[in-house]
Amino acid sequence: MTVKDIFESMDYGPAPESAADALAWLIDQGDRFGHFIDGEFTEPGDGFLSKNPATGETLATLTQATQADVDAAVAAARRAQGKWAKLGGHRRAKYLYALARLLQKHARLFAVLETLDNGKPIREARDIDIPLAQRHFYYHAGMAQLMEDELPGRAPIGVCGQIIPWNFPLLMLAWKVAPALAMGNTVVLKPAEYTSLTALLFADICRQAGLPKGVVNIITGDGAVGQMITAHPDIDKIAFTGSTEVGRQIRTATAGSGKALTLELGGKSPYIVFDDADIDSAIEGLVDAIWFNQGQVCCAGSRLLVQEGIADRFHDKLRARMATLRIGNPLDKCIDVGAVVDPVQLQIITDMVDSCEDGEIFRADTDLPEGCFYPPTLITGLTPAHPLMQDEIFGPVLVSCTFRTPAEAVQLANNTRYGLAATVWTENVNLALDIAPKLIAGVVWVNATNLFDAAVGFGGVRESGFGREGGWEGLRAYTKPSGKPKTLSPILPHEGSAGPEGLDRTPKLYIGGKQARPDGGYSKSVYSKSGKLLGQVPIASRKDVRNAVEAARGAAGWAKATAHLRAQILFYIGENLSARADEFAARIDAMVGGRQGHKEVDAAISRLFTNAAWADKFDGAVKPVPLRGAAMAMREPVGVIGVICPDEAPLLGLVSTMAPAIAMGNRVVLTASQAFPLAATDFYQVLDTSDVPAGVVNILTGPASDLADTLAKHMDVDAVWSFSSADLSAQIEAASAGNLKRTWVNNGQVRDWGKADAQTFLNAATEVKTIWVPYGEG
Ligand code: NDP
Repeated sequence: MTVKDIFESMDYGPAPESAADALAWLIDQGDRFGHFIDGEFTEPGDGFLSKNPATGETLATLTQATQADVDAAVAAARRAQGKWAKLGGHRRAKYLYALARLLQKHARLFAVLETLDNGKPIREARDIDIPLAQRHFYYHAGMAQLMEDELPGRAPIGVCGQIIPWNFPLLMLAWKVAPALAMGNTVVLKPAEYTSLTALLFADICRQAGLPKGVVNIITGDGAVGQMITAHPDIDKIAFTGSTEVGRQIRTATAGSGKALTLELGGKSPYIVFDDADIDSAIEGLVDAIWFNQGQVCCAGSRLLVQEGIADRFHDKLRARMATLRIGNPLDKCIDVGAVVDPVQLQIITDMVDSCEDGEIFRADTDLPEGCFYPPTLITGLTPAHPLMQDEIFGPVLVSCTFRTPAEAVQLANNTRYGLAATVWTENVNLALDIAPKLIAGVVWVNATNLFDAAVGFGGVRESGFGREGGWEGLRAYTKPSGKPKTLSPILPHEGSAGPEGLDRTPKLYIGGKQARPDGGYSKSVYSKSGKLLGQVPIASRKDVRNAVEAARGAAGWAKATAHLRAQILFYIGENLSARADEFAARIDAMVGGRQGHKEVDAAISRLFTNAAWADKFDGAVKPVPLRGAAMAMREPVGVIGVICPDEAPLLGLVSTMAPAIAMGNRVVLTASQAFPLAATDFYQVLDTSDVPAGVVNILTGPASDLADTLAKHMDVDAVWSFSSADLSAQIEAASAGNLKRTWVNNGQVRDWGKADAQTFLNAATEVKTIWVPYGEG
């Protein structure tokens, strides 16, 4: 084709990027790779092929890691970790900066290799994946520099096992490795089987940067290697990105191991277009939302919700735009849609779409190249409950349905088990800012889509996982409190014999702002240290837990109450507790034995004041993103939190967990100290007189293990915290896998309840949702 031909037809001519340097690099390595362990590449072993999905050509042979390889990598990471942490923030910052510079220097090589290995268009690898990976290393070089000053009292977690998927191979590596290294951790990373090459090139870069041996270890292989990492006893934290199904398996496998865990999982993110939207912009956004990276994006806007009045026009314009998408050789700079990562993934997409007998399937009449390609597809007319409207397809397939009112849009958008991202298009700023907070998602884009930056936390809620990557909020997941943890000795209730008849008062459960008899009608005696009967507490059953959760769900309005009101109520609880301080102190002394009651009550009052203070001061942030606009990191309540309160401080422990939770707008189901429950049952009288709306705080008594199990399995509970035994921690983590609820457990370790540690509690009580709002009309 001549320039004249091109000019006359206005067709795009071929503009292929050369693969020569990337192929030469592969040849230099012998086209065979071992693992990168302790600063060196191991001899290649039994392996598997890494192929170019666009052509089917073999690029290299990779080694399947054995248990011995995983052990060697973990041992190297362990040996390196202490020294790496001791280098200090500034010297680590210099290494991270060197890695960022080298990523920049070799940007083209990384981009081409990524495209060859993954099939994504070079335009995307070159302009998005690789620059964002560099940005993560720059950003976290800064975080390493700031750690000592800005994160006092925090220490590295240790050795991190990191398992990443194939859709953004280098970028996911950067999201995981940069913050881990910045905070003084060392890593063992497993890239996905289909796309390990840029991780191995990164290993080469680590050598060039002179990174100390063992700080970064990269081992290749399939899911079995991921399982070995997950199960390894000498790994302190697992960070995983991938499917919800594997995320659930990892939650179960790590339960009770004491390993920290973050999961970034799947999504079925809504893309909402209101009738006043700038339709052409919304269509371009949609191209980016669902056809970027062939739709193999966890936060892909894969579920189009379009307002009924414009639906036909919108779909017509969309079909016309689909006809202009260029599909083909990913190395061609003019290509919009490249190859799907592997024939296996192609088959998954094909089977899912072929199983659809409803709706109307549209594909533009464009030529599809030979190989691993799937055409951009639009399916209209599906009902919201249709499997293709609910399940992640992870391919270039958009499903669509309509809505009439903003309220219906929100309802449909939230009608999913996921909660990763959402997009809203409207020219009405009031509407956009009304809708964005109502969407259940970790990220919301207004009049834009798929915007990312290292300064902004990315991650989901519900079955999209937990934890954030990026920003200050992502860093905490790579740190832990400094100091040596101490094991908590079990605290057992005092024993005694039946006391005199005619107790003056038998407390009840506290559910929905009312005293409630236990469903089973059973109660248990509570004795003093000397064996004197102090009272009886009800034994809550599963049904009582369910009632308490229902009451907490019903009190959802609390999340919308102003922070000022929440603060006032917390102050008021403090005031009312203060008025009865002597009585509470005497009760604690009688239950626990000793004379610590007054001190504990005073600390509890102070804790209420601390959290009243924070209620209107625990701010979100506006992130300095490289875009003309604002990325607003808003703190939202987690929802309904079940708490297994500690035994060491029966009143202070309960108050210390309840107060931050309700300060942030959560509702709680508190299970009182099993050993010393009467402080909690006395406390509901204080709540009754403090204007706490019904259902915001619910208090149960009974065996912690049974109550924790029911709470952890309950689909309407969003988080469970436990400050009881290691066994209970394990039980809660395992049971939470059902709906992947957040857990915060003590693993049977001591907490100093005398310290407020407000930030830790407030962070656990909130989720960061980032709302991106670009400025301007251009
Ligand atoms: P997986 O969740 O299986 O893979 C993600 C990573 O975990 C890979 O490195 C994989 O290894 C590894 N892995 C697999 N099984 C285990 C295990 N039991 N324990 C520990 N690690 C494991 O995703 P797939 O690549 O198989 O894709 C399947 C589906 O998952 C896709 O169709 C898509 O729907 C979804 N997905 C979602 C992603 C997201 O970002 N939300 C990313 C990728 C996929 P290996 O690749 O070698 O098998």
